[in-house]
Amino acid sequence: METKYIFVTGGVASSLGKGIISSSLACLLKARGYRVTIQKFDPYINIDPGTLNPYEHGECYVTVDGHEADLDLGHYERFTDIKTTRANNITTGRIYQSVINKERRGDYLGKTVQIVPHITDEIKRNVKLLGMTGNFDFIITEIGGTVGDIESLPYLESVRQLRWELGNNSLCIHLTYVPYIAAAKELKTKPTQHSVKQLQEVGIQPDILVLRTEKHISPEMRKKIALFCNVTPDSVIQSIDVNSIYKVPLKMHEQHLDEIVLRKTGVTPEGEPHMQPWLDFIDKMDNAAQSVTIGLVGKYVELQDAYKSINEALFQAATYADRKLKLVYIHSEKINDSNVDEKLSPLDGVIIAPGFGQRGIEGKFTALKWCREHDMPTFGICLGMQCMVIEFARNVLGYHDANSTEMDPQTPHNVIDLMAEQKTISNLGGTMRLGAFDCTLRPGSRAAEAYGKTEISERHRHRFEFNEAYREEFEKAGMLCVGENPVSHLVEVVEIPGKRWFIGTQYHPEYSSTVLSPNPIFRSFIDAAVQYHQSKDQH
Ligand code: GLN
Repeated sequence: METKYIFVTGGVASSLGKGIISSSLACLLKARGYRVTIQKFDPYINIDPGTLNPYEHGECYVTVDGHEADLDLGHYERFTDIKTTRANNITTGRIYQSVINKERRGDYLGKTVQIVPHITDEIKRNVKLLGMTGNFDFIITEIGGTVGDIESLPYLESVRQLRWELGNNSLCIHLTYVPYIAAAKELKTKPTQHSVKQLQEVGIQPDILVLRTEKHISPEMRKKIALFCNVTPDSVIQSIDVNSIYKVPLKMHEQHLDEIVLRKTGVTPEGEPHMQPWLDFIDKMDNAAQSVTIGLVGKYVELQDAYKSINEALFQAATYADRKLKLVYIHSEKINDSNVDEKLSPLDGVIIAPGFGQRGIEGKFTALKWCREHDMPTFGICLGMQCMVIEFARNVLGYHDANSTEMDPQTPHNVIDLMAEQKTISNLGGTMRLGAFDCTLRPGSRAAEAYGKTEISERHRHRFEFNEAYREEFEKAGMLCVGENPVSHLVEVVEIPGKRWFIGTQYHPEYSSTVLSPNPIFRSFIDAAVQYHQSKDQH
């Protein structure tokens, strides 16, 4: 079958969940046996989101091939179990960089280089790149931003041209918002009509409208929207608020979104998507009677999206353990010796978050000391693992000035230090240790037990590392380096055996946790937290 291209645009407001709708559609198409991928085009000029702080765009996601990506790629992977790559997330910056490089090389010799056709041609080339591999039946392309934004225009012009060139092999889904005016007790369709008009002005007629709404949209209202927006009534689909994003694929399927997409792209739908494993997950989620309470110690606790993948990985693991996840955010700048007991003792497990820089770091040490001494199930991720090492050096090895050279370049006890290959790097973009690396786990370790094997591969995003020179000393004092890279021998996992669960990973296991295959180390951590909870109940 020829590759089909589905474009997803958004109007009226941002944050309506284009990523979730794209992921849900991909999930359904995959469950019908099609080969699917999703890509995101972001209209900002940064080459990638790696240099943005979480206040700007939430978490930075990392693909297996080491691309620092928009967090929507995390949703794509969690909903579909497909691995995304550098090719799945393009920014305006990358489009321009490529065009400017070609201009310097002389590829356009003699010509004036312009937004149309040079930038739009480059966008179109990138849209079709994954399709050219022949590996996919459906390519869903999410266009970041909102219709009407100045910076979205070249993307929309490219979509217009592609729709024209690809004909039946493409379609456009437009996501809008239908606000509920409480005073009038009415849903309002006018913003949707305006948004579609804006799309039509740039030459795009959407084929399907997905309407975000808090209230049910009546059949009459759907008819009205269909009539005013030139779409068939069955192509007006509501996306009503649900208590979990993982229910959205089911809601979309109830309204036949997958079937409509197939029909409109010339494919005859056969049978039903195989959603049983997904339904089983939802069932567990809805029926979990007890809860597990995890504290996340970090400095971006006021931001919902800063630790997105960790939240989702914890939620997935808790669901498989038949527990509701209660996630308590603990601000690392507000934790100190006088309140640590009160903040941490009600919890069943503690996560020490990844991060960069000095802010909030002392709070992480305070939390870790308490966790280690009170035998709390504790999981340190990336900077969290580095903090575990530093806290241990300070309070067990007795090096009171131990630190990472990231926080104190002059520390005499640099238990965490810059990797050798990082020392000559001056550019900050895309230069960390990024992407998936192999790791060998020590047989018999808690980590190996969690994974059920000793050879694993997980994704990284960091510059600093456990300092090899201290390895023996740590091992002797009881913090074991149980995971290492088979080639570079860098320490990737530390643990204190004999504790309920005290593990730090230099990698980010949260990036590879999906609904249908939750990450084993998160599951092991949650299982330990559940056990701890039960042991507290018995006292
Ligand atoms: N700041 C630390 C480093 O660069 C940890 C990074 C992280 O937590 N992702 O090594």
